[in-house]
Amino acid sequence: GPEGLEGPETPIQVVLRVRPMSTAELRRGEQSALHCSGTRTLQVSPPGGGPDVAFRFGAVLDGARSQEDVFRACGVRRLGELALRGFSCTVFTFGQTGSGKTYTLTGPPPQVRRAQGEGVPVPPNLAGIMQRTFAWLLDRVQHLGAPVTLRASYLEIYNEQVRDLLSLGSARPLPVRWNKTRGFYVEQLRVVEFGSLGALMELLQMGLSRRRSSAHTLNQASSRSHALLTLYISRQTMPPADPGEPPVGGKLCFVDLAGSEKVAATGSRGELMLEANSINRSLLALGHCISLLLDPQRKQSHIPFRDSKLTKLLADSLGGRGLTLMVACVSPSAQCLPETLSTLRYASRAQ
Ligand code: ADP
Ligand code: MG
Repeated sequence: GPEGLEGPETPIQVVLRVRPMSTAELRRGEQSALHCSGTRTLQVSPPGGGPDVAFRFGAVLDGARSQEDVFRACGVRRLGELALRGFSCTVFTFGQTGSGKTYTLTGPPPQVRRAQGEGVPVPPNLAGIMQRTFAWLLDRVQHLGAPVTLRASYLEIYNEQVRDLLSLGSARPLPVRWNKTRGFYVEQLRVVEFGSLGALMELLQMGLSRRRSSAHTLNQASSRSHALLTLYISRQTMPPADPGEPPVGGKLCFVDLAGSEKVAATGSRGELMLEANSINRSLLALGHCISLLLDPQRKQSHIPFRDSKLTKLLADSLGGRGLTLMVACVSPSAQCLPETLSTLRYASRAQ
């Protein structure tokens, strides 16, 4: 059976991660509203008392679980194997700002690491799902014996505009196009061939440092954009005809979604309001596509992938040519419970 995850085969697998209480939450004396019971069930205690509400997922990981535990429980290696066989697979993190999405994918942010005196590179024990998958993939490719071409792109969707995080020139918005052979793709996106783990880590670092964030009242450095790092895995011996085009083959995409919190909670005005609307549009479109995909009566052609840039770019992995893993991230604090419940409902509906 699949590593870590049990249960019936569905196009989307959902894992829930509860981060530990932060020092700020502990200092304010906040209580935990969440309790894991077993490895697959989360119990939520309603604030005014009353019976607990239970949510079940493919796996539930509490605040005591390490980055390595999360990597294993998510069964990402299985997605990697599928990508090596030509499928499109996606891992995305979902949850409100501050719930641990970026930490889960890439480890603690540079400012936290500097404060802890740990230097700029992520220490190996804190490396996230992305670095761990990269190391696994490079190792796997080396042992395959067959020639494999590996390439990467890294982009950000901000206010429904696509920006290339690896571009060498100006960072003007790039159009998303569609054609029969490629499906949806970003025109003129830089796709970089790499041959070593070190080279891929450099691309990750370059993209991370160029991600857009803007301060607002909920979280000073909250990320208001969706970031997509895609690995293109080609086992052909021939290079693609056009060097600008990614070769036909498997894909492994990692998506750090923007915070899922509602506009009202953030006191957003003006530009921030536009951001919040665009973010919600993408997340609503994603939720809508997922629920239609899970409906057995629906035909694939009716899935509204065109409703947002995010769903366009995830169409091939969502639409059946692969597997999607959603890591829903929540804070344990009772203070966050309204947002936590909306994350839990969104995540429950996706499986
Ligand atoms: P998000 O990307 O969802 O906004 P972050 O990943 O930035 O949230 O996490 C918010 C803060 O909590 C960061 O300072 C991060 O380092 C910390 N954090 C998140 N998850 C964990 C965890 N599992 N263990 C320790 N610290 C964590
Ligand atoms: Mg983040």
